[in-house]
Amino acid sequence: MSEPDAPPPPPVVGGVPREIADGVYVVPDGRVPLVPNVGIVLGEDKVLVVDTAMGRANGARIRGFAEELGGGRELMVTITHFHPEHGFGAQEFGDSTIVYNRTQLDELREKGSGYLEMFRTFGDTVAAELEGVELVEPDDVYDGGLHELDLGGRTAELRTYGLAHTRGDQVVFLPDERVLFTGDLVEERCFAIFPYFPPDDVDVDGDKWIAVLEQLEALEPLIVVPGHGDAGGASVISDARAYLTLLRDETQRLKSGGATIDAVVEEIDASMRALHPDWAQPEWIGFGVRHFYDTH
Ligand SMILES: [Zn+2]
Repeated sequence: MSEPDAPPPPPVVGGVPREIADGVYVVPDGRVPLVPNVGIVLGEDKVLVVDTAMGRANGARIRGFAEELGGGRELMVTITHFHPEHGFGAQEFGDSTIVYNRTQLDELREKGSGYLEMFRTFGDTVAAELEGVELVEPDDVYDGGLHELDLGGRTAELRTYGLAHTRGDQVVFLPDERVLFTGDLVEERCFAIFPYFPPDDVDVDGDKWIAVLEQLEALEPLIVVPGHGDAGGASVISDARAYLTLLRDETQRLKSGGATIDAVVEEIDASMRALHPDWAQPEWIGFGVRHFYDTH
């Protein structure tokens, strides 16, 4: 973790693809803020990119990796959710087939421009990466909770569960290898990101989020690629679920004892930092507490 006053590194993809299963690659986030883990999945006919990272340069870099690994195979792209650091490099894949779920597309149309403007206020290095970024409409949109992509000799399952971290979160599951790309539903050694900004945006639901993580565990993945942090086994999900559950239960306990919201935030912020001293982005603890306080 960087010093509190040190400027964060620019949100640039610095990693190179690492093979985590046969023909399945991750471009690791390097624990750089606003850089996600990116997946590249090779089928016999097609290559699927899971998240593009943020901005034209990062998107082009990811595209370069996918073309290099894919060797002329058709490119497909899907995004785990509408947040800029995950999908706002998609315009570099304009001639590929881009697949979203319906709710994610609706959320992108409704909030994408606002998030772009908000992210541009996050400092010069972030604004620089967002130079020239335009929102991209998908080529294919699916309804329902499961959409299967045939990549040739390999199926990728796009699964959605409704409102949790955002309205339209999507995971990508490879049933043969039992690899799961989770987006921001799961982070590793990083506090859960609660985009809870009342009254502007309150589309996060901690209770449903916990329930979704139980469903992801029921898929029995062997390799879990979180939105941010290191890939690992199923414990990456159970650790994230344990944190969310404790955050909720502690908030409820202190609230029912009569504590004010600010007092609850202060106490749980301190206790969670003490419990997880090596986790990144502790600023999100308070957002999570406020969400649970307001909704329980
Ligand atoms: Zn997110």
